[in-house]
Amino acid sequence: MNRFADVVLPLPLYKYFTYRIPADWQQPLSPGSRVVVPFGRKKYYTAIVVRLHDVTPQGYEVKEILSLLDERPVLRRPQLQFWEWIADYYLCSVGDVYKAALPSGLKLESETTVTLNTEFEEPDDDRLKEREWMLLAALSKKPRMTVQELEKESGMHNLLPTLRLLLEREAVFVSEQIKAHYRPKTETYVRLTFAPGDEAALRHAFERVKQAKKQEVMLLSFLDLSHFMQLGKLCEVSRKSLLDRSGVSSAVLGAMVEKGLFETYKKEISRFDTATLPVGEIAPLSELQQTAYRQILDSFKEHAVTLLHGVTSSGKTEIYAHLIQRVLDGGRQVLYLVPEIALTTQLTNRLRKMFGDKLVIYHSKFSDNERVEIWNTLLNDRSPRLVLGVRSSIFLPFADLGLVIVDEEHETSYKQYDPAPRYHARNAAIVLASMHGAKTLLGTATPAIETYFNARQGKYGLVELKHRFNDVELPQIIPVDVKEMRRKNRMQGNFTPELINRMQTALQEGEQVILFQNRRGFAPMVECKQCAWVPKCEHCDVSLTYHKRYNQLTCHYCGYTYEIPKVCPACGQPTIGVMGFGTERIEEDIARLFPGVPVSRMDLDTTRSRNAYEQIIDDFSKGKNKILIGTQMITKGLDFDHVSVVGILSADQMMNFPDFRAHERAFQMMEQVSGRAGRKNRNGVVVLQTSDPSSPLIQQVMAHDYEGMYNRQLAERKAFSYPPYTRLIYVYLKHRDETLLQELAVRYTTALREVFGARVLGPDNPPVARIQSLYIRKVMLKMELAASMSRVKEILRQVYENMLVDDRFKSLLLYYDVDPL
Ligand code: ADP
Ligand code: ZN
Ligand code: ZN
Repeated sequence: MNRFADVVLPLPLYKYFTYRIPADWQQPLSPGSRVVVPFGRKKYYTAIVVRLHDVTPQGYEVKEILSLLDERPVLRRPQLQFWEWIADYYLCSVGDVYKAALPSGLKLESETTVTLNTEFEEPDDDRLKEREWMLLAALSKKPRMTVQELEKESGMHNLLPTLRLLLEREAVFVSEQIKAHYRPKTETYVRLTFAPGDEAALRHAFERVKQAKKQEVMLLSFLDLSHFMQLGKLCEVSRKSLLDRSGVSSAVLGAMVEKGLFETYKKEISRFDTATLPVGEIAPLSELQQTAYRQILDSFKEHAVTLLHGVTSSGKTEIYAHLIQRVLDGGRQVLYLVPEIALTTQLTNRLRKMFGDKLVIYHSKFSDNERVEIWNTLLNDRSPRLVLGVRSSIFLPFADLGLVIVDEEHETSYKQYDPAPRYHARNAAIVLASMHGAKTLLGTATPAIETYFNARQGKYGLVELKHRFNDVELPQIIPVDVKEMRRKNRMQGNFTPELINRMQTALQEGEQVILFQNRRGFAPMVECKQCAWVPKCEHCDVSLTYHKRYNQLTCHYCGYTYEIPKVCPACGQPTIGVMGFGTERIEEDIARLFPGVPVSRMDLDTTRSRNAYEQIIDDFSKGKNKILIGTQMITKGLDFDHVSVVGILSADQMMNFPDFRAHERAFQMMEQVSGRAGRKNRNGVVVLQTSDPSSPLIQQVMAHDYEGMYNRQLAERKAFSYPPYTRLIYVYLKHRDETLLQELAVRYTTALREVFGARVLGPDNPPVARIQSLYIRKVMLKMELAASMSRVKEILRQVYENMLVDDRFKSLLLYYDVDPL
């Protein structure tokens, strides 16, 4: 047996740490297994074994592993390798990736917060072990404690293995996420200790319960429920059904277990109603879809990645379904990535009907317990499955991927901004797929310029689908000049007469309307009408957003809330008022313009709770609500049958946003939201309100001219050296002390410039130059495509290390954003 193990800790450390394997350990250790190790003063963590060896580390005293948490690894090949790739590519530590990848329940540490499950009942027939009991007793004194506090309280050491058992029993929860509705994960079943045909044993059993009436009742109930006497029809009996049927207490069952008559066993019952569902047929493909399907398969022969560029409602999902079926039939797994959970809601029903219990869903509103359960499901079982999930599902322990689908691949929510790893799930998924020898299909009506560029260059395969399913026409787009309407005083709130008229007609005909209001730059603000004073967050350099519902001001960066001042702190006048408009304001306009018409709103504020998405989408699908107002969230992939009018309330802010991708984004958003109009049977219209109807971008949107947009944007990118002609890396520096930050940022940038010259830009103050009391500077690095990125990254690490000679630099927070969006 090896003497040492290198492990990864859930900390931003740039190397693996070596621990000694206790000499008396019998169990063999393997890479991917979890162990508990001490680290730092009085702290310990769940670490993951990376490799085993016999090389005694030099220069420090090697600590010993405290305990082993699993006999079997919690990771599958090639997960560690994938983590290492992410850390290397996105310039973060493997520990950062580990933190992001595993659900909290699988990475307990001394700082983990533990909560008692007040609904937990100790089963009579599966008693808590002494240590489990002691731990629960300690926890019951205070419902929430960190593991460290719990150790103090209980006087016990090395708690994690015990905690792991309690987590499995669901007697405790970890982390901030507590399930709203507790449902048991496993169910206990009861069986007799002898075989059904064994009459002698049965007679003997009745002998033994003769003196105990209640035990006899229980035995009879069991025989009844299990069909014990009817050979060949034996049913499993759950503990619960037995107790219900017999009407006898669980203590009686406990006594019978002790007597050795019954034994209990656990059966996993899934939280996700995977009870065998009828698996429906997949709709046959239309001729056009069939062609695209065949082209994709052909393309896969030559390309690891293929882009399916199909207009909105061309039936991409149906094509995915056929590809998925093919891969599942071949015995392999499929990962189907969607940008946001709003999409999983609609897709779940569609895919459930096609793939039944092969479908596994994974998204951010799941509790930690559910995530652990999904993790274990995939870990313990390598059967063909379809995983439908958001960004973080790339970290699940897939056994054998055969296909990865990235739907709406252009979506920016595939990019993780904070914290590290700042990865792009689409790009990481391509790498993951290649590690499994799988193909990747990217699908969208509006490809990211980088993706389309790759396809045009021949790096990716390209399959185009230019017609909607059933040959429904793409919606007609009607631009309306808001500047002119304002001048003529014909605006009603934020609505032009054109939009109001179209809406009226649609509603009269029993059709539905979607109104799109981009959030960015549109959140309502409070302002002094007298002197134009605007309230700002005390911790962040950003103006506050007004929330009507709570009559409060909120900072969208740190979440801090403020009361609205009665008088202006600048000029002393009582002239504070609300300006600008967000989705809330639109909702108000609607109530005035269309009294009595049922409306729902979908944005960050209305979708905080777990089921909110489902509710809003479901209500709208069923026609309960006639108008749906929303932000970006409603632009992507939703499929409604009766929407004939889409209103884009203002294209201006989207287009004028100061970013080189603003026009690409604006086009994608407008084209996508237009795509929600007139999907099934009739032609929809889109009313596009803008103050610049003649701008090339609006013309491209009107003509559904993706190519036109692409060519124009590409020319600009080339002229100004932006991606896809260059690669970007942003370096962020943060500190509480602005003067010091500025000084160090300049020194750092100078050092970078010595190596990279004019490729270094900055340091700049980003648009929001202070967040949570930390000042920020941003340095931009623009590299030519030909440059070796691994060399560039090596230099970046080197420059940073050199700076650390100056002690003040150590107090600075520095991180990278590779391929920023
Ligand atoms: P996309 O993902 O390209 O926007 P969808 O896959 O949502 O388009 O398809 C649009 C609509 O057409 C959906 O309502 C879908 O059910 C229907 N549809 C697509 N393909 C077929 C098919 N082969 N048979 C029946 N209905 C289809
Ligand atoms: Zn703030
Ligand atoms: Zn004022």
